[in-house]
Amino acid sequence: MTNIYKFCPICKEKLIERVEGGYPRLRCPHCGFVYYHNPAPTAGVLVIEDGRLLLVKRRFEPYRGFWVMPSGYIEYQESASETAVREAEEEAGVCVELDGIHAVESCFDDPRGNTVMILYRGHIIDGSLKAGDDAEEVAFFAINNLPEIAFDLQKRILSKLKEEYIPGVNGEN
Ligand SMILES: [Zn+2]
Repeated sequence: MTNIYKFCPICKEKLIERVEGGYPRLRCPHCGFVYYHNPAPTAGVLVIEDGRLLLVKRRFEPYRGFWVMPSGYIEYQESASETAVREAEEEAGVCVELDGIHAVESCFDDPRGNTVMILYRGHIIDGSLKAGDDAEEVAFFAINNLPEIAFDLQKRILSKLKEEYIPGVNGEN
């Protein structure tokens, strides 16, 4: 995946692949620019109400029609927690208050590129369920009966949640 760019974004010289620190990197022989191919940060929110998990159905590819916790890419000027709150509002129509970090996990099966998700726990303080933005449906699901989940990282987090979940003891608001 280091060959995604051909030219230096600073001086337009052709980039050359070189191994640096054990990793193949694209480097500009003219100005010294190095392209570091890093995963993109994303943020999301895990909301459980009465033993049921809030999910949104993806309107677009990849994984169109699969379900995910409200989440998305962090904008450049945004904090991770602001992204989590914004995505819940845009995709699920609800205003959430965050209760801390639930998990930080890497994602390696998004065809748009690798990501790292900061997933918060949160609870709804206002609004009512309304799918929007890149979600076509929004619903609560019993943790033991979830629909088809998109992305390996969300599947990993939710299968762990399912194992650890004891109704009435944790996860309930
Ligand atoms: Zn250059």
